Amino acid sequence: MAHIGSWKRLFLFLMLLLLAGGALAPETAIAQGRRSRRTAPADTPPEPRLYTSRNFKVMTDLPPNEAEELLQRLETMIKLVSAYFGRPNVQPIEMFVFDDFSHWNESQLAQLAPEGVAMVRGGGGLTMSTTLRVGTDMATRSIVYAGADHGTPQHEAVHAYCSQAFNTCGPVWYAEGMAEVGNYWVENDKSVTADPRILEYLKSQDPRPLNDIVNNPLETTGDSWQNYAWRWALCHLLGFNENYTKRFKPLGLALLAGQDANFWEVYGSQSHEIEFEYLQFLENVEPGYRCDLASWDWKTKFQMLRADAQVQAVIRADRGWQASRLRLKAGTSYACKATGKVKLSKDDTESTDGNDGALIGVVMQDYKLSEPFELPVDGTFEAPLDGDLFLRCRDAWGSVGDNSGKLTVRLSLPEESKTATP
Ligand SMILES: [Zn+2]
Repeated sequence: MAHIGSWKRLFLFLMLLLLAGGALAPETAIAQGRRSRRTAPADTPPEPRLYTSRNFKVMTDLPPNEAEELLQRLETMIKLVSAYFGRPNVQPIEMFVFDDFSHWNESQLAQLAPEGVAMVRGGGGLTMSTTLRVGTDMATRSIVYAGADHGTPQHEAVHAYCSQAFNTCGPVWYAEGMAEVGNYWVENDKSVTADPRILEYLKSQDPRPLNDIVNNPLETTGDSWQNYAWRWALCHLLGFNENYTKRFKPLGLALLAGQDANFWEVYGSQSHEIEFEYLQFLENVEPGYRCDLASWDWKTKFQMLRADAQVQAVIRADRGWQASRLRLKAGTSYACKATGKVKLSKDDTESTDGNDGALIGVVMQDYKLSEPFELPVDGTFEAPLDGDLFLRCRDAWGSVGDNSGKLTVRLSLPEESKTATP
């Protein structure tokens, strides 16, 4: 900042944008288990070294093999994130990544930004961005401070990318949610890869209302890993669920462009649907869960059955709940006949063919679901309540994606009730 004087004749706007992330207290730290720690030989004490790759300049005391692994993970992440936003990383991201502060001497630490070092000592990370605005031109440069663990370098690098490419990271819920999505992103994989303990936390809590996530005036960056978990959950859902993903990217780009966009303007007309799918996600999420395959069918029309009519639905094994087209009446018996073969895992050589228990149903009424219940492969069942019947093959939510095959399900009124119906 010593050369600011040379810009005196120009309108100058200098902004310091601080984004803290991954601020996990050490005792609640959530390890990602990606690193294989190796002790450096005693005769070569670890010390900070500079590692460079196409998009990164990383000064770190990590052992060389781990530093190279980190660079590879960062390059993979930046490739995915910049492809998603459709904008390249404009300049290498400078990072200080700390494995063990005892490997850094005082004079080295003294050259670094104290707030960055302090944030890392507290178990998190900090991205410091400086934006130079001259007329309508803007340029942002970011420097990252991060502990080596918990995916903090990847999380902060997402902030740095957004800051440099867009001059902003958007509102806190979006900035932090997307930094976590970027941190966990695996190429060609739509499944949930977040740390299981984050998922356990989300499932153990009363669902946080959506508006408390997207519209909380008290929220701050770096507030708590619990708040980060909720922001991740919402951004992951909107990013991968087929009902919302198309609007999510334009919303994100508008937020990054500093336009006056917000969550409710974009999704207000779908608020009941999002609320319902958000609750479903929180109830069923586990490692491997696929929001795309669980996307709810809001389009198919349902009908009550009369006398000789029947409805038919094809239920894929590799999807979540699917519309049966049948609207149930509580207490009424229905005949169900399912044909076809499904495999409930890749290694499943024996196809399940007409086994009782393979097909389960739920009834939806007013955006609420009944308890799931088994449907007979060839038999009758009684409707537990009024509402629309949805079906799926029984399998853990985390392994729906590796299923194959489908069942053709025919639903009708049983013979005796037909004859009894005038
Ligand atoms: Zn962050």
